[in-house]
This record gives sequence, structure tokens and C-alpha cells, in this order.
Amino acid sequence: MRYQGREVDVEGRVRLVMESALTARDRVGVQDFVLLENYNSEAAFIENLRRRFRENLIYTYIGSVLVSVNPYKELEIYSKQQMERYRGVSFYEISPHIYALSDNTYRAMRTERKDQCILISGESGAGKTEASKKILLYYAVTCPTNDHMAALGDRLLQSNPVLEAFGNAKTLRNDNSSRFGKYMDVQFDFRGAPVGGHILNYLLEKSRVVHQNHGERNFHIFYQLLDGGDDNLLNTLDLERNPQNYQYLVKGNCPRLSSVSDKNNWKVVMKALPVIGFTEEEVQNLLNIIASVLHLGNTQFGEGEEGETYITTETRLNSLAKLLGVDDSGLREALTHKKLTAKGEEMISPLNFEQAVSARDALAKAVYGRTFTWLVEKINQSLALKDELYHSSKGSSVIGLLDIYGFEVLLHNSFEQFCINYCNEKLQQLFIELTLRSEQEEYETEGIAWETVQYFDNKIICDLIEEKHKGIISILVCKTISSRFLDKNNDSLNRNLKEVMCQSDNQILRHCFRREEVIDQKRPEMAATQFKNSLMKLMEILRSKEPSYVRCIKPNDAKQPGRFDEVLVRHQVKYLGLMENLKDGVSTLVNHLGYKADEYKLGRSKIFIRFPKTLFATEDALEAKKPDIALKLQTSWRGYRERAKYQRIRHAVIVIQS
Ligand code: ATP
Ligand code: MG
Repeated sequence: MRYQGREVDVEGRVRLVMESALTARDRVGVQDFVLLENYNSEAAFIENLRRRFRENLIYTYIGSVLVSVNPYKELEIYSKQQMERYRGVSFYEISPHIYALSDNTYRAMRTERKDQCILISGESGAGKTEASKKILLYYAVTCPTNDHMAALGDRLLQSNPVLEAFGNAKTLRNDNSSRFGKYMDVQFDFRGAPVGGHILNYLLEKSRVVHQNHGERNFHIFYQLLDGGDDNLLNTLDLERNPQNYQYLVKGNCPRLSSVSDKNNWKVVMKALPVIGFTEEEVQNLLNIIASVLHLGNTQFGEGEEGETYITTETRLNSLAKLLGVDDSGLREALTHKKLTAKGEEMISPLNFEQAVSARDALAKAVYGRTFTWLVEKINQSLALKDELYHSSKGSSVIGLLDIYGFEVLLHNSFEQFCINYCNEKLQQLFIELTLRSEQEEYETEGIAWETVQYFDNKIICDLIEEKHKGIISILVCKTISSRFLDKNNDSLNRNLKEVMCQSDNQILRHCFRREEVIDQKRPEMAATQFKNSLMKLMEILRSKEPSYVRCIKPNDAKQPGRFDEVLVRHQVKYLGLMENLKDGVSTLVNHLGYKADEYKLGRSKIFIRFPKTLFATEDALEAKKPDIALKLQTSWRGYRERAKYQRIRHAVIVIQS
């Protein structure tokens, strides 16, 4: 922003006209939407996004919120030199960047000694996971460190490819779609060095293990193993290299990806595991589990004359049992029969064909899902604050990073979409609560008349889902409704399968399937209820921290660079509430300028300043080049101030225009 000139109008109002310092502004747009002339215009907003996108300027601010548009190509803006440019530099002094947001959050944590969190939102494929990785990388590279901490930084970074291999998959919307929600805390010591980390994971989409929609894949790790594992390894796991030979991998009819090298990623994962502290035995156990899931999928059933079910792939059952570390006759029986307790007596009853298939699938989902949870626990142990660092961590603070699965609407939506979208609604609600609503309420209580921003408060949606007794989740849990939708919500595993599994020789599986679970006959909590409770806890965690926001936008559905689909973008701008945010962004700017509540009023495209002295104070601050001041005016006001003594000046108006 550059001070262009001033006018005093007939009513004695001083008008400052400011212009962007960028001469090429028409070409590249403004770097903060707040500086748009008509910041209420959606068309202007989108045009600004488009201009910047065309110039590979994917980041733009709305006040303190960072908007990011997925470029779908590698940009040379993430180097170490770039990181250096952003270190210790204020938000508005330099072009918008995810590093600027990372750095500001870090500095806020250090100076205010308050826990921070960075909330990343946007639909599937918009770039949330990439953003979270860049933030983590920024901290790992720029924060003060010693050998201990460098090792921690390494583990933090290396945990990503492992979690992605097991928790991400190709979907129609994103070749590397997160199929679980992730909240990661990074803990810093009093010198600002990272000393510990902790991950909370949310509801992995387990149904993907046994079924994929057309054009989609199972979790990456299966393909990585088949493509990257050497002959010897595949031999010991009794696997063939072609993914099309596995029932659990053929449903989507999409074995390979052009954008992803499974072979390379396999190498990355195998390198990362020991860094995170996996022993050789644990790696072997993990591989056995991945292979066992593939073998489970190939376990087929036949129906006898009396309707009894038997396994037609007997010859393979042996290697399946070996990989699972369980007794093969026990496994055979548990896959084709169920154990019931009636009147205190145990009875074995045969399963019919469908029941056997679903018992098998339930086992595959349970094995995979629980192994994933174990993996997260294992990573957490490796990131945990070490005793020897405990002392230095006193007085430390935390930065939390939230990267969830983005909104998705498919042709046929099921339980997973319900949960994913519910999670996004909760996040949006928190966003509204912490920004728009609180802001407006403050204005109202302060008695400041201003144009109320019409925002859509999605609380009604959240209530509809989670309210006691009458919310969708309560109704789902109510047993009278049964549908395929509910089947997915029901994770129950036959008791005899649990019994077999808790005797496994595989230490990981032994950890995942506990004896107590077999003895304890309580009905387990429904997945939807569990999910709701874990989200409630997450919201509490986030509320206790100072939030920063990254709003990611997906420019096209074709996953291609250089394409800006206006309809798609407008839709996202709407539901992310970015226009509503803009008003909020202006007030952030005003806060930065240090105006008090009674000194100004926000108009549609103007900030009305009540007293000229406010303006002078702003100018002084600007002249003193206070680093936290947003706008850099290049002007001298001395002459004006002298004149002001003699002129009757009632209001000053800052017109923000191009
Ligand atoms: P989901 O909700 O499905 O997990 P997401 O928002 O996490 O989606 P990402 O996986 O981060 O989406 O991004 C999708 C793809 O877009 C990436 O695999 C990458 O190819 C590309 N991409 C995203 N952000 C960037 C970026 N800043 N630079 C280059 N490419 C990017
Ligand atoms: Mg993601």
C-alpha cells in the first residue's frame, strides 16, 4: 500500500487515498483481499484470486487468514532460502506465504507464551495435507536445535510418509487423499526448540480395506509393498507382484497411478520406520499383517448342500494363518462359525455364505484399523518428550496442527462421508465461533453500529447431527433402523474371531486384540458415537489455543495445473464463508493499526475514523516503522498536521482503493 494523496471534502473530512506499491498490481492482484476496492464484491474477490493464480501467486491473505489455491505443480517457493526470508518478518511486510503464517504463529507462541493451533480446512484435494507438511518442515528447519532435537525433527518429518502410506489412498478427488483425520501437537521448550510431539488420529475409513469405488484404490501401503518389496520378501509373504490378483485391490480397477511412484514411496517408508524407532521384528510383524489382509481378501467360501459354508481356498489358509500368527484350524472355524452364549451355555452355529463373507471382511477391517491405531501409538512413543529434555520443556508451549479429511460429496454417500462432512461442519462451527460471531457480538455489546455481516451459522447442522435423543447420531444408534448405512457403522467382530486373534504370535496383533475384550461382553460403542465424542474433545483442545487459519481452495476437478474453474472456486469461497471473513479481515487490519472501538466505524468499503488524532497516531507509528503495523505509507504528514490545527476537521475517512 502506498499513500497516494489526501483530500479534504466540503464537510471537512480528510480523505486519504492509498495505492498499492506494486506497479504491476493490475496483473497480480492485491495480496490482501482487505485491500480490494470493493471488498464486498464476490466477483472482485474471485478475479483477484484468479489473477494471482495465473502468476503462480497461490497465497493471499484476508487479514490474518491465509487463503491458498492448489497449484497442482511444484513451485520454487519452499526452499531453505525462502524460509530464511520469512523468519522474524511481519505478516504484512512480505508476500503472503504459508511460511509467514508458520513464523507468525511461532512468534506469537514465544512472545505471548500461549499455545497456538493452525487449522487447515478446504475440500478434498485442496492442499491441506501439503500445507501441514510445509508448516512442519518450516519448524524442523528454522527452529533452534541441538542433536537431540534434530533427531526429533527427523522423526516428526518421517512420521508423515508412514502415516500417509497407511492412511491415505487414491480417490476420485485426490490421488493422495487423507482417509483419517490428524491433529498433531508440536511441543517447544523455553528456547523455542521442538522437544516433543503427539498425534491424535480420527476415524480411519476402514471400509476401504475391503471395498473401493470405481477409479479408487485401497490404502497406498498395499501397492507399495507389491511394487517395491524385493522378490525375496514377496516370497516369504507368499505374495505375487500383480495387484490385480488380490480381491481387495481389484474393486476400483485402478492398480497404478501416474502421479505416484509406489516403488519409491515404499523405499521412503522402509527408511522411515527405523528412524521412528521400529525394530526389525516390528517391521516384519507389520509386513506380515499387510500381507495377511491381502490373503484374507482372497479367502473364498462355498456353500454345501445343507447350506453350510466352507472355505474353498483351503490351500492358502495355511499361509494366512501363519502370517496372522494364529492356529489354522481355529481360524478356519472362526471364519465359518459363530459362538453364542445362550442360557449360560456356549453354542457354535454355522454361518451362511453372506455371514462368512462379512465375518472375513470384518476381520480384515479390524486387523488393518487396529494396526493403524497401533502405528500412531508407536509414533507417539517415538515423539514423546524424552526424560532428559523434560527439564528444558518447563514453561514451554505447543503448536497444534489440524489436517482433517476434506468435505466430499459423492454420487452415493455413506457412513464415511457422513462422518467426514460432520467433522468439517464442526470445524467450520469453531471457526465461526472464534471469528465472526465473537467479533459481531463484541460490536453489539460495544454499541457500535455497523453493517452486520450476514453469515451462515452452521450450528443448526451440527445440532441436527449431534443433539441428544433427536440428532441423527442418536437415531442411528437406535436399533430400530437398519440399513446398509448402519452396517458400516457396525464394526462388530464375532467373538470366536476375537478369541483366535488375541492368541496371535504377532506382537502387534497381540497388542491390538486384548483378552479383556473377549471376556468383557459389553456392547462396544458405535463408531458414530465414538466419533462424535472424539470430535467434542478435539474442539475443547482447539478452543484452549490461539487459532490461525489456512483456507485451501481447489482450482479444478481435473487435478491439473493452470486451470481455474470459476464455478468451482466460487462455490468454495461461498461455503468456506470467505466473503464473510473479509469483513473480519478489515477489522483485523484496524486492530493492527491500533484503533480503539470508539474511534472508528467500518463501512461497506471504508473505514471511518472519528478523530484526526487517530490518524496522526497511525502516521507516527508508520513513520517509526513499527514492525507490527500493516500498512506502509510513504508520506510525510507534517504539513498536514500544521494545517489541521486551523481547519475544522470532523471526520477522516480512509478510502482503500486501487
Ligand atoms: P484430502 O482432504 O483428500 O486429504 P487435501 O486437502 O489434504 O485433500 P492434498 O493431499 O494436500 O489435499 O493435495 C492434493 C494434491 O495437490 C497433492 O498431492 C499435490 O499434488 C497437490 N498440491 C497441493 N498443494 C500443493 C502445493 N502447495 N504445491 C504443489 N502441489 C500441491
Ligand atoms: Mg489430506
